[in-house]
Amino acid sequence: MTDTFPAYLISKTESGQATELTNITSDDLMDGDVTVKVEYSTLNYKDGLAMTGKAPVVRRFPLVPGIDFAGSVVSSDHPRFKQGDRVVLNGFGVGEVHSGGYAGMARVKGDWLVALPKGFSARQAMAVGTAGYTAMLCVMALEQHGLTPDSGELLVTGAAGGVGSVAVSLLSRLGFQVTGSSGRASQRDYLIGLGAHEVIDRSEFNGKVRPLAKERWAGAVDVAGGNTLANVLSQIRYGGAVAACGLAESMDLPASVAPFILRGVTLYGIDSVMASIEKRQQAWDRLATDLDLDQLEKMIVEVPFEELPAAAQAILEGKVRGRTVVKIPS
Ligand code: NDP
Repeated sequence: MTDTFPAYLISKTESGQATELTNITSDDLMDGDVTVKVEYSTLNYKDGLAMTGKAPVVRRFPLVPGIDFAGSVVSSDHPRFKQGDRVVLNGFGVGEVHSGGYAGMARVKGDWLVALPKGFSARQAMAVGTAGYTAMLCVMALEQHGLTPDSGELLVTGAAGGVGSVAVSLLSRLGFQVTGSSGRASQRDYLIGLGAHEVIDRSEFNGKVRPLAKERWAGAVDVAGGNTLANVLSQIRYGGAVAACGLAESMDLPASVAPFILRGVTLYGIDSVMASIEKRQQAWDRLATDLDLDQLEKMIVEVPFEELPAAAQAILEGKVRGRTVVKIPS
């Protein structure tokens, strides 16, 4: 195949890296046993870091960014996939060390692909994207811990962001009473619309961390890390749990062991990038049944392909609400 298609390409420069919108051919793609016509991709926080070069997310050059894509198989040497199959990809180093979703075509290992669950369009799958699939992994961790709606109130930090929006929507649909923490008072109605019982200002979690604070939450989904996660841990009720997946505030965790050894609190680390195919399939199957697609629609902001660099800047500045999707031109 020598057809050309539009793509973002990140190249190494003397000062770091540069991102350009260009045309490439399938000869420019990396090795893999499945070639996919990409229909939709999305913008995650990590894509923002990759596109702008703000953090060394991209570790191989030249590379097509985009850690997620959904589309249909053009050709396959993989036993699980054949031409025409609808597929979705999240992570596995795609958009970091292997060319990803911001191009008309992608060539990847079939082992990294998940069959697109029935009921999801490519656009909806990308509205979920890595952020939404990670939110589902967090929900699954809290459920496996044994939390039920009777356990008490849950907290979701960074609630107006991608992971946070999907987590609020999923947990409230599952019957939990959910409080969203957000730095954007303007997003209160949006979060109540997604099912949040209450919205609190994220500054409540900025203060000095005490080893133990008043027991407030049965569990939490945390995207922030840093002081926020440390303060959240100090407020978790006896036997509760936190699913931590992000570092929107900081990579640090200035906490004490008090919540763990005096209240039996559990901290679950959530990684979506290298999660097994079985776990991914389970998460996507759960998303297909548990995510309200009307709620998902409320989270979607669609940006034109050409505007991805500006959107990448905006997500790093905390200005993006919910989930950003992008239709990939062929
Ligand atoms: P978004 O940018 O969409 O959302 C992040 C949200 O965090 C913001 O919208 C904001 O919410 C909140 N936030 C921003 N800055 C701060 C701060 N200083 N203190 C507290 N809260 C803050 O990103 P995503 O939802 O896509 O990703 C969230 C995090 O999860 C990122 O750190 C990302 O890297 C990580 N992640 C990890 C994955 C994994 O596999 N472990 C997979 C996917 C994401 P608000 O405006 O409501 O306050």
